[in-house]
Amino acid sequence: MAGRKLVLEGRVSIKAFLLGLSVLVIPLIRTCYGHVDWVFDYLTETPGKIVICIHVAVINGLLLVAYRGPLYKVAVRACFLGVIFGCGLMISCSETTWTHFGWYLCSLSFFHYSEYLVTAIINPHSLTLDSFLLNHSVEYSLAAVSSWVEFTVEKLTFPELKQLNWLSVVGLLLVLCGEALRKAAMLTAGSNFNHIVQNEKAQSHVLVTGGVYAYFRHPSYVGWFYWSTGTQVMLCNPVCILGYTIASWRFFRERIEEEELSLIHFFTEDYVEYKKRVPTGLPFISGIRVN
Ligand code: SAH
Repeated sequence: MAGRKLVLEGRVSIKAFLLGLSVLVIPLIRTCYGHVDWVFDYLTETPGKIVICIHVAVINGLLLVAYRGPLYKVAVRACFLGVIFGCGLMISCSETTWTHFGWYLCSLSFFHYSEYLVTAIINPHSLTLDSFLLNHSVEYSLAAVSSWVEFTVEKLTFPELKQLNWLSVVGLLLVLCGEALRKAAMLTAGSNFNHIVQNEKAQSHVLVTGGVYAYFRHPSYVGWFYWSTGTQVMLCNPVCILGYTIASWRFFRERIEEEELSLIHFFTEDYVEYKKRVPTGLPFISGIRVN
């Protein structure tokens, strides 16, 4: 991997993400001359909203001029995630009761953008628009919408629940550790990592047992599991903390069994030995049974 140039789509996505992040420029300049509260007014009051809309329209126009076809599709998604990350930072840095929602927006947009970028680095052959994981599944989208609904309803009816700073900090730590573990797994597995579980062994596919794979058999799933629950802890969403934990636990239990069936088929005794030595990393999930 060292010294290899990042594929064009990866480079375009970085430029577009940074362009999206430029929504921060105007409030940053204004903050230098005014009070920090102004940053939040920028997002909530009409003049600020108009400025953001014009800003987004201008950068989208720039992307339309600079890129065509598939590259534009990559750029517009990366730029959208950059805008969300920028707005998340604005909310996080302003003195309001919405700080934790700002952290959440940053976590969500960074996760989806970095999935694409890291795939472009480690396995460019498998890189598609789906690598952003934005349309992962109907269940995933429903889960995201449910968490926004729960957050809004509870913020309106029981606002004190959303001000448990210590709980949001615990959520933030789960998100940061989960994200770091997942990306470490992707970088360790390299081209052996794939968002789609492989049922046929590629010639280049080798068994990875080093780095984070020496501690957990499924480190990227462990990271994703704690990241997803962490986002709900961060939002102090009791219903979704429970719902996300149960749903993602069930999802990974099934996925691990399916994946290990193929891995035993690919690597036979080597995988069985590895499986005996190293746990999955997820609580109460032991993977496929071997007779
Ligand atoms: N379950 C792993 C990898 C997820 S990516 C993790 O959580 O980190 C899914 C792909 O990784 C599958 O196609 C599977 O064949 C491959 N894979 C899983 N574990 C592997 C390992 N230890 N070595 C090589 N490939 C592995």
